[in-house]
Amino acid sequence: MTSPLSAAIKLSSILAPVRAAAVVKADAYGLGAEQVAKALYAKGCKQFFVAVFGEAAKLRPTLPCDAEIFVLNGLQPGDETACAASDIIPVVNSLEQWRQWADAASHRKRTLPAVLQFDTGMSRLGIPPEERSALADALEQEDSVEILFIMSHLASADDKDSEQNGEQLGEMIRIADAFPGFDISFANSGGVFLGYAFHGELARPGIALYGGASSAGGDNAMEPVVRLDVAVVQTRTVSAGTKVGYGGIHVTHQETRLATIAAGYADGLPRSLSDRGAVCYQGTRLPIVGRVSMDSTIIDITALPEGTLTLGSLVEVLGQHQTLEDVARAAGTISYEILTSLGDRYHRQYD
Ligand SMILES: *Cc1c(COP(=O)(O)O)cnc(C)c1O
Repeated sequence: MTSPLSAAIKLSSILAPVRAAAVVKADAYGLGAEQVAKALYAKGCKQFFVAVFGEAAKLRPTLPCDAEIFVLNGLQPGDETACAASDIIPVVNSLEQWRQWADAASHRKRTLPAVLQFDTGMSRLGIPPEERSALADALEQEDSVEILFIMSHLASADDKDSEQNGEQLGEMIRIADAFPGFDISFANSGGVFLGYAFHGELARPGIALYGGASSAGGDNAMEPVVRLDVAVVQTRTVSAGTKVGYGGIHVTHQETRLATIAAGYADGLPRSLSDRGAVCYQGTRLPIVGRVSMDSTIIDITALPEGTLTLGSLVEVLGQHQTLEDVARAAGTISYEILTSLGDRYHRQYD
């Protein structure tokens, strides 16, 4: 098991001399934004991205003043005052947002910082192509907003072979020509592995910091960061033909030893793992049987010698033997969703 810190060191060595910010939105992908950001700050990371203003407001007091916190979704109308007062930097995604932030600056008779995000082909967030020239004119006429750098986001960086990567890069280069003199932030985790052309001046890895694979289907260059062990709360032996769990959808076909573990869908074990996922015990795969319940899940432990698992024994849901990607695949989702769904009933330990 490694840590976001070791992951950050690995990413930094790939990127050097390009810097990396840390994406700590959604409570650092469910792992604890304050803990992750503080640990990374202590090792020299000074830039942090969250998604919404509320996340930034919560993180701001926990980090020293020279840490910069950027809000990816930009500002909702009405957040300008709080944002200007709290030293949080919005990512401006439209001409309208730029106008509101510029007005907030003029109103305060000061300059306010911002990052400009451009849409290079994802159609999610960012200044659309048709607003570029109006924005360029506005920037010439008014300097109340200080642009720290420009950015865009890759839609298919998890697929090295996707043509969309090259298309977006081309668009980014055109934007850099139209808005010269600014540093560029382009690469998410996947982008870090797409090569130098995608690195710009500031990368924005998220999932790779937390041990997730940045490429879909490919090998994971990162070591696991998260380990999740769940305790056994009861074991039993049932005969062939016994129904297991809600709805009795699983029926044993032989004498079976079962264990019930203390985590269910309320703790982020997707219900789609019902009768298909597994947990591990020292490398032995123990299938999930029947439906995942809200607070517990039943596993088949027949593969282990009798008495191996008893009340309080821990089984591995995530870790060395079962990766985030394994669980995500079994659940029909992605590692991001598994991580950000982890519930708050777990005892969390940071090494
Ligand atoms: C979430 C996000 C990232 C981080 O993406 P990963 O794939 O987790 O590395 C970077 N930039 C933006 C704009 C994002 O929304």
